[in-house]
Amino acid sequence: MKLEIKNLSKTYENGIKALNNLNLTINSGMFGLLGPNGAGKSTLMRTIATLQEADQGEITFNGINVLTEKEKLKEVLGYLPQEFGIYPKISAVELLNHIAILKGLSNKKERKELVQFLLNQVNLHNFRNKYVSSFSGGMKQRFGIAMALLGDPKLIIVDEPTAGLDPAERVRFNNLLSEISEDKVVILSTHIVDDVSDLCSDMAIINSGEVILNGKPVNVMSELGGKIWEKIIDKNDFSKYQEDFHIVYSHLNGGKPLIHIFSEENPGNGFNQIEPKLDDVYFMAINSVSN
Ligand code: ADP
Repeated sequence: MKLEIKNLSKTYENGIKALNNLNLTINSGMFGLLGPNGAGKSTLMRTIATLQEADQGEITFNGINVLTEKEKLKEVLGYLPQEFGIYPKISAVELLNHIAILKGLSNKKERKELVQFLLNQVNLHNFRNKYVSSFSGGMKQRFGIAMALLGDPKLIIVDEPTAGLDPAERVRFNNLLSEISEDKVVILSTHIVDDVSDLCSDMAIINSGEVILNGKPVNVMSELGGKIWEKIIDKNDFSKYQEDFHIVYSHLNGGKPLIHIFSEENPGNGFNQIEPKLDDVYFMAINSVSN
């Protein structure tokens, strides 16, 4: 199973170039698409999901020309958008059943079994008779996965699913995603780097509508092996460190800045060498483009 994107470009009417000659090949399994806000992720996801047009380029999925054979693609597509509309006052089991009818599952017995199976899979069976509108954010997202899975899709697109979820809901949702990714292409679009390192076997970083890095998380991290060093510093010294070192990123640790720097050689000064994380890869990639 393979999704191939070639020379894809899109400029909005206001002149913003959201996709700039983008090329990407995505195989079965979980693929993470990372990038800062405004990078073009949603534009790319919506274009693959046939919800908007590109200006130029090609997308093919297992022989289907995505841009011209939209109906064919929809038969194998499951799409979980960033936000859902308002749900009507209808229970989870009724809504799922209703959507299954819309998707053409006409055999009542089979449909009932499938709806039960999916509610179990997303761990909402105990809540099947509750209104979906009363669900928490995480439950709604899991319900969205059940909807996306109706019709046994081969290409699943999930756009920023964990934004707004509490940590426990996020873990539950991520576990569910990793369970469903077998024999399918699952694209997870997110700005949460940890979700990609936890879940994805392959990934790309996009910025300004272009792919700036593409590879397996383990490989892209090992390319920085031996070159990332960390140190907790005093916040008053931050600008001095910024002048003297190549700071990849910093975050607070117990209220003090913990800086990660890139250095081919031991920088001394009390820095400790660390195993590169995907955050280091991400910020190196993003900053080398914007600098
Ligand atoms: P991301 O999902 O990575 O945050 P988007 O694809 O939403 O990125 O946006 C890419 C760029 O295109 C941004 O600069 C955004 O403001 C712009 N953009 C997105 N949708 C539209 C639209 N419908 N009309 C005009 N500009 C848009």
